[in-house]
Amino acid sequence: MLPLPIFKLERPDTLEQAVELMAVPQSRVLAGGTDLLPNLKHRLETPKTLVALGGLRELAGITAEEHGIRIGATTTLAEVAAHPLVNGCYPALANASKTVGTSTIQEMATLGGNLLLDTRCKYLNQPQGWRQTIGGCLKCAGHVCHVAQQGTGCYAAHSADTVPVLWLMGAHIEIVDKDGLSTLPISALYTDDGINRHVLPPGALLTAVILPEPRGFVAHRKLRLRTAIDYPLLLVAVRREGAGAVAVISAVGPRPIEVRVDNAQDLVEAAMAVTKPLNTHIMSTSWRRQMVEVEVRRALEATTR
Ligand SMILES: Cc1cc2nc3c(=O)[nH]c(=O)nc-3n(C[C@H](O)[C@H](O)[C@H](O)COP(=O)(O)OP(=O)(O)OC[C@H]3O[C@@H](n4cnc5c(N)ncnc54)[C@H](O)[C@@H]3O)c2cc1C
Ligand code: SF4
Repeated sequence: MLPLPIFKLERPDTLEQAVELMAVPQSRVLAGGTDLLPNLKHRLETPKTLVALGGLRELAGITAEEHGIRIGATTTLAEVAAHPLVNGCYPALANASKTVGTSTIQEMATLGGNLLLDTRCKYLNQPQGWRQTIGGCLKCAGHVCHVAQQGTGCYAAHSADTVPVLWLMGAHIEIVDKDGLSTLPISALYTDDGINRHVLPPGALLTAVILPEPRGFVAHRKLRLRTAIDYPLLLVAVRREGAGAVAVISAVGPRPIEVRVDNAQDLVEAAMAVTKPLNTHIMSTSWRRQMVEVEVRRALEATTR
């Protein structure tokens, strides 16, 4: 069993207290902990303070808004998957939530934590002793990237199951920090850098996900080795737009990729042209690339049913 490092645990009762605590350097948000705590056990990071959001009732739950719904950041994936408003109007989000890990993980894991899930790589998400045998890597305690040895960046894969569907649904996130409240489209949240994976300012709290009225049927596909537990080898979401179509493809690099075509028949080819899986997963890159063709086609077909 891997022990946790020592940290201070803060449990604020109000959002104001949480924002104040997060303004202290080396503080990190603890939501469900299903990503963060394993990463701490693997010594991928060692924050001094964890700020637990469980006491902030205003961050939990799903409410109908005038033009859509609002999902609090600490709403669990099990709650998202079971909610009648989500199932009725945004079924792809319910489906994507149900594919995260296992049902026990979905009971703990939050939607906010899923959006801010750390990027993953087969050379990184290993116990510390395993990593030390290869000298670490650019993302943790090393000087070389084992995926691209001449590379100067990190290509660890964005692996959050709910993101491609939320992106196609036009979702925004609500953020609070010491400068106040702001919103950002999910499509603008991520970067091409597997280390600094999103654009949230240090100390910012994600408070809610805002979904506009449904924009049409979204098909969702997840490729993984086993139909439970496993992180994605590939994620695809597709929505038709008149004669055209738009896809969001993820788990192939640090940032999801959007592909838009005027003629839906061109979608598979366009997706193949921009998707270049790297050696970040245990399955081969050539097979994962072939599966882009298969999964985009399947998702596109599902939008016509
Ligand atoms: C065995 C196993 C299998 C898994 N399989 C999958 C999978 O298939 N697909 C998948 O997507 N995930 C998977 N996960 C990862 C994880 O369970 C989910 O991504 C989950 O949704 C993370 O949410 P959380 O609330 O537990 O986040 P946490 O672990 O609490 O936090 C994750 C990160 O987000 C930050 N954070 C969380 N909430 C906020 C907030 N409101 N504001 C600012 N920062 C915040 C934290 O500081 C941390 O950096 C798996 C995990 C395990 C252990
Ligand atoms: S892509 Fe390279 S730098 Fe990033 S986690 Fe993997 S090995 Fe490390």
